[in-house]
Amino acid sequence: MDLPVEKWAAYARRRWASLEPCLRRKLSLAVPLRDTFLLCVPLFQPADEEFLHRLAARSWVGKDPRAALFYKEEGNKRFQKKEYAAALMLYSKAVSHNSPEMSLCYANRSAALFHLGHFEDCLEDIDRAQAQGYPNRLQPKILLRKTECLLLLGRLEEAAGVISKVESKIAMGQSLTSTTRQILLRKISQLKVKAHKKESSPVSVPEALSKTQKDLEFWEENGKISSAFSSVSLNFNSCRGRHLVATKDILPGESLVKEEAFVSVLSPGKSLLLQDSAKTTWDTRVTNGDLHCHRCLKRLLASVPCGGCSYAKYCSKKCAQLAWEHYHSTECPLGALLLTLGVFSHVALRTVLVAGFAEVSSLVKQFHGDDKELHKAEATGKSWDETRDSTADMEGLSEKAEPLIPDCEDVGQYRGSYQAVFNLLTHAEKHSPEHKFLCSLSIVAICKKLQERDLTILSQGSCESQSELKAHVTTSAELSPELKILGEAMLRHMLQLHCNAQAVTSIRESESGASVVTDSEQVRLATALFPVASLLNHSCDPNTSVTFSGTAITVRASQPIPRGQEIVHCYGPHRCRMGAAERWQRLLCQYFFECRCQACLDELGSDVTGTAATGDIFCCSSCHASMQGEDVLRCSSGACTLLVGRDYLLRQLQDLQVQVRTALGLLKDKQPNQAVELLMRCRVDAENFLSAEHMLVGEIEDHLAQGYATLGKWQEAARHLRCSIQIVEAHHGPSSVETGHELFKLAQILFNGFAVSEALCTIQRAETVLSVHCGPQNAQVQELQEMRACLLELPRSLLHRVE
Ligand SMILES: [Zn+2]
Ligand SMILES: [Zn+2]
Ligand SMILES: [Zn+2]
Ligand SMILES: [Zn+2]
Repeated sequence: MDLPVEKWAAYARRRWASLEPCLRRKLSLAVPLRDTFLLCVPLFQPADEEFLHRLAARSWVGKDPRAALFYKEEGNKRFQKKEYAAALMLYSKAVSHNSPEMSLCYANRSAALFHLGHFEDCLEDIDRAQAQGYPNRLQPKILLRKTECLLLLGRLEEAAGVISKVESKIAMGQSLTSTTRQILLRKISQLKVKAHKKESSPVSVPEALSKTQKDLEFWEENGKISSAFSSVSLNFNSCRGRHLVATKDILPGESLVKEEAFVSVLSPGKSLLLQDSAKTTWDTRVTNGDLHCHRCLKRLLASVPCGGCSYAKYCSKKCAQLAWEHYHSTECPLGALLLTLGVFSHVALRTVLVAGFAEVSSLVKQFHGDDKELHKAEATGKSWDETRDSTADMEGLSEKAEPLIPDCEDVGQYRGSYQAVFNLLTHAEKHSPEHKFLCSLSIVAICKKLQERDLTILSQGSCESQSELKAHVTTSAELSPELKILGEAMLRHMLQLHCNAQAVTSIRESESGASVVTDSEQVRLATALFPVASLLNHSCDPNTSVTFSGTAITVRASQPIPRGQEIVHCYGPHRCRMGAAERWQRLLCQYFFECRCQACLDELGSDVTGTAATGDIFCCSSCHASMQGEDVLRCSSGACTLLVGRDYLLRQLQDLQVQVRTALGLLKDKQPNQAVELLMRCRVDAENFLSAEHMLVGEIEDHLAQGYATLGKWQEAARHLRCSIQIVEAHHGPSSVETGHELFKLAQILFNGFAVSEALCTIQRAETVLSVHCGPQNAQVQELQEMRACLLELPRSLLHRVE
């Protein structure tokens, strides 16, 4: 999803192979990105553009009144089944396409919002419906909904005003049948009674307001590094590059960095990408774009669609407006192209749009002003980037420590500014020439499109220069000088993203709603650049945890960090998830360095290289001792003579994984009985050949707990979850966030099963673990606190009940 779609990548590979050898050599050698980019501009031929255009046409990003009608009807079907959340999503899809029935779509969505209890949002949609010309004959209906919302929100005077409006409408209502009139009048009198009752009971201030103020975290900002706390400092040496170090002893759970993304792009939904052009119906699947604001990533309720496209939806008018001003006016007509070229291209474009042409141009020019130093660096055999900075670079380049930290402002300050983004490592010399060619060609494609369609991004200049530009554009197939600068910067950003892109993730709870026990998964919401968090080096055994809120990242200590120790986080390959050999391969491939973290040194130092991932996962089917060996495995207990081929065992493992996935599907389809039955069979199968600590065994136990919880069998659910927790603890450690999530589920199960004292214990453990990793504001932490409060309010007799 980050890189261009495979068909375009394959096309670029073919183009690369067909280039003249001398041109290929030239491109392979071109170290300054400017040269790479400029060499590629004339290579992007009309035939390439045509091919890309055909690929892009498969993504549906425009507006279509027929789609609006289709989604509205699908929404109505769900609404009738009382599936209001699903109906809401479909109505939102409907309003993102313009149609003559917009007002009805908004009105229907307001009804769904009403049933879901979102009264403020309901009122907004009622206003939107009316602004879009909601039919007069239906007015009384929507006004009564408005009255009910206002009453429920305690806004009595406004409610009274609307009631009298409805009454006059009904009095005038020529087209109302007498039954409708009667129904409406009865409803009004009911509402009047409600309003009267409300008036006599004072409305309390919403609790949430005072709560957020209380929970504001203490924030002592760092004078030298923006967005960092004073407990960290920025250091530099030749082998670690720039890195962050603790200036004092840090406790688990302390925040270290809290940074707003410089730029972030919502990951598109799969269904947007793979639209089959032959299909006549529209996709009703819910994607990231339906669930989260295109700009701030907030969870969407009554989304505000972009006026120009159907793919950008916002949480509010304000977000829509800000996005339009800062980047979307340029991006809007490029939607299909950007989907085809992948998220990295999109982030690269948005980065230069957010920074603004003046800033980009000044840094690019400054960079080339340093050309002399570049040649000096080349002469000593180092690349430009390595001499400037080596964030993730561990090769010893020079023994002498630099006196100044690169890319800091005069007074040694480091800011999360465009300058910091611009100077992030590109590793240009380490990417394969084919990859650089693909990136360059993709960026040229964007530049060509910008040249054709939209020149407002360059409007920092005068009006004259814009018309000059237009003249230039129409007469030449070349890129304008401004777009050459932007293109070079975008190519730079695209290559940087390879190492510096941060996935913004969120825990999404399953939509099934059938179970009281959370079934959640981590989903990738967006790809972002965080210049300050990018200062953190990698470790396979990190001392921090990372969480996101909207487009902001928070880095917290996950264990005690003594003063002077480096602060590190994991780029992905974690000690608990893969063996050293696999981690090394991944890090070398994507981040171009050989990891020398403690976990790697320990594992590589011992003889059991790489066994953590593959060894000891199978057990003997007759005596349950572990199976050992390479292609043929032998039971490790002396008494047994069992021999089994590794291929056979791996096939068995694959079959079991398929079965477990099937069971999970049954759980999601609200068939817990069948799911439990299948999972119990899986468990027996697993016992026959998998070691008891295998993660798949843990998954089976976890799903069993989920199934039993859905059936209300709390004791069985708790029993299976405890098995799962044991396995998760063995893999990730007892204070890991993974264990925290499992403990949270156990707390929910015990809470629902009224196992009061055990629930209180588990709540305590889960809260301790989760608040270290996710902070006190975390939704699960808050829910745990509510569970505790609720249990403590139970009558004493219940608390002392023998369990
Ligand atoms: Zn927003
Ligand atoms: Zn748009
Ligand atoms: Zn490592
Ligand atoms: Zn055996």
